[in-house]
Parts: sequence; structure tokens; C-alpha cells
Amino acid sequence: MTKKILITGGAGFIGSNFVRFLVNNYPDYSVYVVDSLTYAGNLDNIPPEFFDRPNFHFVEGTITDKQLMKKLIDKVDVIVHLAAESHVSYSIQNVSIFIETNVKGTQVICEAVRENGIERFINISSSEVYGSAVTLPMDENHPLLPYSPYAASKIGAERMVYAYYKTFDIPAVIIRPFNNYGPNQHIEKVIPRFITQALSGELLTIHDDGRQSRDWVYVEDCCEAIDKAIHADIEKLKGEVINIGTGKDTSIIQIAEMILDYLGKPRDLISWGGTRPGQVQRHITSTEKAKRLLDWKATTEFHRGLVWTIEWYQKNPQWWQKLRKIELSHTLN
Ligand code: NAD
Repeated sequence: MTKKILITGGAGFIGSNFVRFLVNNYPDYSVYVVDSLTYAGNLDNIPPEFFDRPNFHFVEGTITDKQLMKKLIDKVDVIVHLAAESHVSYSIQNVSIFIETNVKGTQVICEAVRENGIERFINISSSEVYGSAVTLPMDENHPLLPYSPYAASKIGAERMVYAYYKTFDIPAVIIRPFNNYGPNQHIEKVIPRFITQALSGELLTIHDDGRQSRDWVYVEDCCEAIDKAIHADIEKLKGEVINIGTGKDTSIIQIAEMILDYLGKPRDLISWGGTRPGQVQRHITSTEKAKRLLDWKATTEFHRGLVWTIEWYQKNPQWWQKLRKIELSHTLN
């Protein structure tokens, strides 16, 4: 049966990959995207031909706008809520915008869902809510120990969704993806930063000892997991929290070396520089619940996904050079 789906933050990294996934796999679904086009949102991420489709609708607007969200939610069966301020370091400089967008914006959506009633509300949270692993692998009952204002705002958002589920019985499911990587990721994030620095022959700066490791999920695998959350039996998913990751980890230093080796660049392009607050030390997810509830398992091995990602940045220099120019102009001002 055809569906009407609203994607918040659909011009960002995961959002735009998910929009492409949905339009390509379900051409008869109606897709609505709402995005306020912050520095992280980019209309270039959405294929231009999508805008000509009668069942694709892009709305520029903010999720904190109650009237707008009510109007949009009235039109759809499913919401995939990805819009957020998403950068850990930026959250340390400017906490309030993270509360406004991530917590308040999510509450506005909860309220509109409660009033309108829809089939399901998929809230995209984050593995950052856990902080550094105290037990490995990390399952969904791992304590919530936020290391940054970003992480705390994602806890505020997802616990608000959970409270609306408990109090008002909204059909919500909470997904906690581990670190995603792949095409169209903003160059502020570590993998695209290293790739674009290596392609430009610049130094790749590693903070702390470089041994911090993460469970890296290729973005298309994450899109498949969200797809499963849209189509699985809602009675089994309501109120559940589900981790999305691979069950394996790779360190920052290993990634820098893999990128330099693949591009045939010398490893002495690696430089060491200071510490970065807010960073977790280690993440590896348990994959059991995603397998059980979504029948989903990541299929992209890290090195293969990294090569696809490097190749995408090699083929699309105009996409990331534009972002580098903006970053440079901010540094100069
Ligand atoms: P991103 O920063 O690339 O994209 C966020 C998008 O949200 C942008 O298009 C931005 O314009 C939009 N946005 C921001 N504020 C908005 C507002 N008030 N109203 C409407 N749109 C707004 O982020 P991403 O990496 O694609 O992450 C998407 C979601 O997944 C976020 O909720 C993030 O917390 C979560 N997540 C990301 C990762 C990851 O590794 N990238 C991992 C786990 C969870």
C-alpha cells in the first residue's frame, strides 16, 4: 500500500540519503521534506529531478513552527524525524540552539502527532546518548551518560518522545544510529574532513591519542534500517528503542591511515593537535535487538564503505569545495 511520508531534515546528510533511498525504492510514495536549510542543510543534496515529481514536496521551514508542523503532519501517515543540530563541537560553543531545535522542535512534533494521529513516528536519536562505553557491546539498556550538550539534547528529545508514547500512546519508535558515514556528509565531520584534507594535500589533524573508536555504519545501511522501521509491525515497535550499528569498531588513527593509503598519500600527512572536549572514547553496539525487531543487520564492511565514500568525494569536488570556501570565509572574518 502506498504511503505518505514526512522527512524532517531531508536536506542534511542522512536525510538526503534517505530521501534518495525512498524515492528510488518506492516511486509511488508521496514524500514531504521539511528543512530550515541551516549551514548543514543543502539543496544540492537532493537530485534536481526530484523537484519535478508530482509526489515530492519540499518545504523550507523550521520544526519549531507549530502551525507548519501541524499542517504537514496532517498530510502524512509516517514521520521520520531527522532534523537536528548535529555537531558535537558546535554544541559546546552554542548550547541554546541545540535545546531549541533538538528538544523544543521534537516536542512540537510530538504535540502535532498527538493532535493529528498518524500511523507511526520514527524518531532518530543517536548513540551519543550513551557517552563512552561502560559495558561492551552496548545494548539499549546501557546507561545514558551524555558527554556533550549535543548528546544531552538528543536524550531530552528522545525521552520527550518516549513520554508522549507513555502518556498519550503516540505510535513512536526511537532509533539510535551509531556514527554514520557516506556521500553528502558535511566536511565538519571527521571522515569527510580527513578525505577532503587528503585530497587537497593538507595535514590531517588527530586530537588526543587517535585511539578513540566508533561503530561506523554506512549511511545506506542506516537507510535500510529506517525503511524496516517504516514497514515492520508497529505493535512490535511502539515505545521501543533500537540501536543501529555494525557491532565492530574502528579508531580515528586507523581511518586516517586507510584514507591516506587508499589515495597513495604519505602517512606523514598525519599531524597531532590538542584535545577535543565532548568526545566519547569507545562505541560498539549490540546488534541483537535490531535483528530481532527489524530483521536488519548492517551489510557494508567498513573498508568497502570507506572506499565508496572516498570515491564519492573524489567525483564531487564542486560539492565539498563550496563548503570549504564558506568555512574559510568564517575563519577569515
Ligand atoms: P545534518 O546536520 O547533516 O542534517 C541536519 C538537517 O537538519 C540539516 O539539513 C538542517 O538544515 C536541518 N535542520 C536543522 N535545524 C532544523 C530546524 N529547526 N528545522 C528544520 N530543519 C532543521 O545531520 P545528520 O548527520 O544527517 O543527522 C541526522 C539525524 O541523525 C540527526 O537527528 C542526528 O542527531 C542523527 N544522527 C546522526 C548520526 C551521524 O553519524 N550523522 C549518528 C546518529 C544520529
